[in-house]
Amino acid sequence: MISTSINYERQGKQQGYLRVPYSYNLAGWANLMIPITVINNGPGPTVLALAGNHGDEYQGQIALMKLARELTPEMVSGRLIMIPSMNLPAAKAGTRLSPVDGMNLNRAFPGKPEGPVTGMIADYLTRVLFPLADVVMDMHAGGRGLLFYPCSTMHLVSDLKQRNAMIDAALAWNTDFVFVGIEIAGSGLLPVEAENQGKIVITTELGGGESIPAEVHALIQSGLRNVLTHCGVLKGQPKTRQQLGKPDSILVASLHEHDYLLAPESGIFETHVSLGKRVEAGELIGSIHFLERPDREPLRIEAQSGGFLLATRAPCLTQQGDCVGVISEEVDAQSIRSKTF
Ligand code: CA
Repeated sequence: MISTSINYERQGKQQGYLRVPYSYNLAGWANLMIPITVINNGPGPTVLALAGNHGDEYQGQIALMKLARELTPEMVSGRLIMIPSMNLPAAKAGTRLSPVDGMNLNRAFPGKPEGPVTGMIADYLTRVLFPLADVVMDMHAGGRGLLFYPCSTMHLVSDLKQRNAMIDAALAWNTDFVFVGIEIAGSGLLPVEAENQGKIVITTELGGGESIPAEVHALIQSGLRNVLTHCGVLKGQPKTRQQLGKPDSILVASLHEHDYLLAPESGIFETHVSLGKRVEAGELIGSIHFLERPDREPLRIEAQSGGFLLATRAPCLTQQGDCVGVISEEVDAQSIRSKTF
């Protein structure tokens, strides 16, 4: 049901739209128009670079819009397909979920060709764009809800060749941490669909909240170019952390449910530990205060495992069940590269 003026086989640079049929009360024959840029230049890999899966994660959208403007065909080897704001209605509203149908694009895969809108976007990615790609990049951040220590992220796929290619790409972001995670909140994720199609999947959690520091923008914009160079779709030599005068990235994993701390009660969350700091199991990482019962002792949120605090809640106002902390333990590269978990 989604149409486009883009010809994915044509050489050169094209700027166009994915047109998603969408009716509302003031326009029966309307389309949602999702911007897409495709640059095709001779032989090489196809990389599908995506942001705005969640509309309130701005830094990847900005980085991809800038890149799409700046690149010329001569800078590319192969094909680079860029969609800066995949979930355009959510991006316009600055929300995680689409205001059009209430859906979370990152829970909508493989998608539904008959709609609603979010299901149609997922379906087009699953059936049209993923099969074109060798590499699928989905840039995330913590959005309004979570503050993430800026890191590249990945799942431990069972195919070791695919997994090792994903680890190498994750390292090319040159972030302080490479985070290996599990999904604790449902199914239907974009990266999982792309992984199941055998793609090299590259994901991030580059910061969070609604105020993005300059250094986070700089990190994602330089990291994005470096990863695309690493993948061979941009010409040039990728830079290593060593060349940048930085220590090696630390590989960390949160592979157990107890690594993800959820608020047992609603209240006002106070954090006690800076992001990226190491904590021991049992250490106090936050407190929940009770507006209606200031006489009551705040609820203690303690780390259930030792490791680095990689994410914490962004808004203080917290509902029961919200994630208020993610603890991630250092893992050695060899086991992550070769072991079954
Ligand atoms: Ca996200």
